[in-house]
Amino acid sequence: MDLHGGYVVPPYGDAHEHNFDSLQMTRKVSAQYLKDGIYYAQGMTDVTSGAAEVVKAGMVNTPATVDVTYAHGGLTGINGHPKDVYESIFYYPRTDMQRKLVIEGEKMEGEAYWQIDSAATLEAKWTKILAAKPDLIKIYLGETENFKAYTNDEPRLGGGLDPELVPLIVAKAHAAGLKVAAHIDTAHDFHVAVTGGVDEMGHLPGYGMSATEDAAKYRLSDQDIALAAKRGVKLQATAELASEYSPSAADLAARRALQTDNLKRLKAAGVVVLVGSDRYSQDSVAEADYLQGLQIWTNLEMLRMWSVQTPETVFPKRKLGELKEGYEASFLVLKENPLENWAAVHQIVDRWKLGQRLEVSPLAAVQAATGVGSQPVSLGGAVVSVFESAFF
Ligand SMILES: [Zn+2]
Repeated sequence: MDLHGGYVVPPYGDAHEHNFDSLQMTRKVSAQYLKDGIYYAQGMTDVTSGAAEVVKAGMVNTPATVDVTYAHGGLTGINGHPKDVYESIFYYPRTDMQRKLVIEGEKMEGEAYWQIDSAATLEAKWTKILAAKPDLIKIYLGETENFKAYTNDEPRLGGGLDPELVPLIVAKAHAAGLKVAAHIDTAHDFHVAVTGGVDEMGHLPGYGMSATEDAAKYRLSDQDIALAAKRGVKLQATAELASEYSPSAADLAARRALQTDNLKRLKAAGVVVLVGSDRYSQDSVAEADYLQGLQIWTNLEMLRMWSVQTPETVFPKRKLGELKEGYEASFLVLKENPLENWAAVHQIVDRWKLGQRLEVSPLAAVQAATGVGSQPVSLGGAVVSVFESAFF
């Protein structure tokens, strides 16, 4: 096969998305994911019935589509996040009346979230949670340092689980063969998650911090980072969320400084950082560029994060992220060398998935004319050696 002197890398991943749980949204984002070379996506909470429709329609998890996993309903406290989002018919409840409607709402309980306030409630709901066949368990923690103070007041919208339930949920999930990923907002939430046995952090705290806030609330302790490294906990940085809603220059600078401090220490400790956007209707391109712009990692390290560590975290049982015999014949062809120029990761001239050329590829027209690519390709040495390659 002639790949026109391109550079070959494994396809990219998105470790944190909410995009494939309705026919409408899946239709909207799928071509963009494939065009951007993002074949693997981890659903970090979804509307369970909507996800089932998408799967049934064959819009994901086929050779020609994005491969996705689903956490389905996330486990949270009474009125916790993401109930505030999923029960809202407005973008986010702001007035007292809107908050009241959301608090009274229960429509998406068991669909997009499960409210759990005790071990007994967990026990009662657990069979149903597993019956939805999630690929992972998502839990929500939010300012766990204030959990007791908050619950003694009015019902709090947008909070999370009782931190004391975390080890219990983790034990049940692990017994069912499922990993646990946690939404976290603060350094204390990270502490609760890492000591509670969580496998993956859904965020790096502080992406919404203001410049006038004390950054200590979001600065991870060295001990917690060391424990995360020791336990093999991975972290979805979702760092680009810092630039959402046009923040002031001062706020953005404070967030970037905090993120850089945390990420440098996580990297030094050996914690794997995953590329995931958490942006509705977008893929992980902006997140990858934002992380690269923090200048913490080399281009090679960034590529490993995006095209090897993220995909293999989403699909740990599959042979992904390597170009060798026995591995899935899925790869991207870049026009230029991404080790020299990061922007080259977006200049994709050809896309292959499971031995087939994807139609969104500009070279698909060549395939139509020549018939090349109608058979699965071997990635044995003879094939690979015909073009210059960057293997990661
Ligand atoms: Zn999310």
